[in-house]
Amino acid sequence: MIYYPVMTQPATTTTNLVEIFSAIQGEGLNVGTRQIFIRFGGCDLRCYFCDSAHTWETNSRCRIEQTPGKRDFVEYENPVAEEQLLSWIRQQHQGHLHDSISLTGGEPLLHAKFLKQFLPKLKEQTLLPIYLETGGHRPQQLSLILDQIDCIGMDMKLPSVSSENRWQAHKDFLRRCSPQKDVFVKLIVTNQTHWDDLAKASTIIASVSRQIPVILQPATPVPGIAITPPSAEQMLFWQQSLKSSLSAVRVIPQTHKMIGQL
Ligand code: SF4
Repeated sequence: MIYYPVMTQPATTTTNLVEIFSAIQGEGLNVGTRQIFIRFGGCDLRCYFCDSAHTWETNSRCRIEQTPGKRDFVEYENPVAEEQLLSWIRQQHQGHLHDSISLTGGEPLLHAKFLKQFLPKLKEQTLLPIYLETGGHRPQQLSLILDQIDCIGMDMKLPSVSSENRWQAHKDFLRRCSPQKDVFVKLIVTNQTHWDDLAKASTIIASVSRQIPVILQPATPVPGIAITPPSAEQMLFWQQSLKSSLSAVRVIPQTHKMIGQL
């Protein structure tokens, strides 16, 4: 892999990245669409099932795909300046290939101050919708950039699955999203998921709007982590039960892993 140093800029115009690449979205309501992924470094949660532990801390380097979908990464130094990031996106944004841009991580809302000034330029340059993938626990940071976001996929962390308990923050977060934004809730479930957690999530979501789409996502086994997906019987029962209070409950596994995609 080739390495190029990058000039650093003042703190408000730089950010810490993990990677940029073009891929087929494998989760949630945007499943199957083609996106430019901007993966930010750093996460303040520690979900038990996390398959992106390499994003938890900020790194001294990031990797940037040179050709959309080719995985011909080149490494660069962090932090990354705004103009440099825009030029990498220009490189990715070819023809009519992409449907939207995904802000992911880690937790992209840890970079809200940077995003507040970056997103208007990104939208002006690409004219693509902006999709935010988030843990859904940082409502104040969301408010900083909400006007620039087109679609939000928020996780609701179930304590029996993630060991995280963020109910109040999730409620506040969802209230800021709906009804003005296109938002859906993702619930990652394992064979150890407690129905009480799903019922609590359902109550919070329905208190905002029963029309908010909910995705039940069976956890994908991660090497080295003792995790087992739910049985078909569990999924059928949970979907049926949640549909008594919510309008749209879908079961969608991580499809990008089924096709062996990064
Ligand atoms: S919020 Fe996402 S990146 Fe952070 S620990 Fe949980 S699964 Fe991993």
